[in-house]
Amino acid sequence: MPKYIVTIGLEVHAQLTTQSKMFCACPREFGAEPNTHTCPTCLGLPGALPVLNEAAIEKTILTGMMLGCETPPIVKWDRKNYFYPDMPKNYQITQYDLPLCLGGGVPLYDLAYPKDAQKSIANPGKVVKLTRIHLEEDVAKSTHHDKFTTIDFNRAGTPLMEIVSDPDIDSAEEAFAYLTSLRQILIYGGVSDADMEKGNLRCDVNISLRPEGQQELGSKIELKNLNSMSAVRRAIKYEIERQTDALDRGEKLIQSTRRWDDDRGETTLMRTKEDAHDYRYLPDPDLIPLRTESLVARMRPLVPELPHEKRARFEKDYGCSAYDAGVLASERELAAWYETAVGADTKVPAKKIANWVINDLLGVLNERGLNITECSVQPAALSELVASVESGKISNNQAKEVFAEMFESGKTAAEIIKAKGFEQVSDTGALEAIVDQILAANPEKVAEVKGGNEKAMNWFTGQAMKASQGKANPKIVTEIVRQKVLG
Ligand code: ZN
Ligand code: MN
Repeated sequence: MPKYIVTIGLEVHAQLTTQSKMFCACPREFGAEPNTHTCPTCLGLPGALPVLNEAAIEKTILTGMMLGCETPPIVKWDRKNYFYPDMPKNYQITQYDLPLCLGGGVPLYDLAYPKDAQKSIANPGKVVKLTRIHLEEDVAKSTHHDKFTTIDFNRAGTPLMEIVSDPDIDSAEEAFAYLTSLRQILIYGGVSDADMEKGNLRCDVNISLRPEGQQELGSKIELKNLNSMSAVRRAIKYEIERQTDALDRGEKLIQSTRRWDDDRGETTLMRTKEDAHDYRYLPDPDLIPLRTESLVARMRPLVPELPHEKRARFEKDYGCSAYDAGVLASERELAAWYETAVGADTKVPAKKIANWVINDLLGVLNERGLNITECSVQPAALSELVASVESGKISNNQAKEVFAEMFESGKTAAEIIKAKGFEQVSDTGALEAIVDQILAANPEKVAEVKGGNEKAMNWFTGQAMKASQGKANPKIVTEIVRQKVLG
């Protein structure tokens, strides 16, 4: 049976987080009463003229910089002609041959792969190449009911980036990782909320199979209507199987567009190449080409430290494991929270703070469905708690108890340690008195320790802990017992 090479490319539409729409002053807001944010321009009424939204252009250029793209010195706008009720002026303003960004790539990070695929990553450290990013306007939103369709023009004219990858993706898992990594960077840059559920990140997949040894790509099949990360993965898996079966049967695949049905878990044919649109692109006479030089200079300093750069720095400077660095750098706010905690007391090992953030803090935040920005524990307070464990003031188990209360009450570690009476007795005078008493009362155990029985040594430590009601510092108690018995 012949083997096939899978080639996948993704087209991602991402709504930008601007105040207003792409070509008019209507507010860009999700969830408002339908058709309340409209004007003649975004309704596509005859004679209305578009005005460029500078913030949308800036955010697209910033996106390009984050992804290592080039911005040509001159860009322009074009009309893409087609008729749909969601675009009543019968064309979409987009960019055809001179888009805002060219080239670049998306680095895939290990934790971006589906959980069950993280142990078997085919190409670790892969960077998926990008073709281009252009800026265009979103269309109105249609909602199909039983016998009619309603349409909401609040979405019409929302600034939309189309991010086009090269056919550089080899599997469903890689496509999933690409989307996760891309989303993370868009959110880092504050350019898009990139929420697939709200439709501000939408994805089309191009997929083709060819027999091994064949250079020329197979027929391109486009998948539409993918509205979640898991849908993307499932649809690609389904399509690889479907195309493999067809090719095995000797069928010829033809260039076509298919719709993904998430409930049934299958794709169905929408149209073939013969009835593909002819968009008749032409330069938009209402918008003049734009020089980008000064915009590029203005945006350059605003490029944030990117997730992969942060991960590398956390490993190098804080001794984090690759996994810990991946988790901590997954969100910009979480990374900042962690670094504030590390900076609060430089004597506390950064790696220990990382453990507390990942195991304890994120654990309880996830449980409650809270974000790090909604966390009641301040970074310096966690640092103080970890310092108390490191200095031997409280035990690790006590620290867990203190942490739970810090989270509920918002009180500092010191306040809770005091209130709970958790301070360990490290005063050797007081501890010696306790140990002396126990030694005197248990001569047979003393003999055991002298005979080299380490377990008996632990027994003494346990007794001293009990006598001090858990407040004795176990390390110091053991030392005193050792000294008194063994000399
Ligand atoms: Zn408008
Ligand atoms: Mn588009």
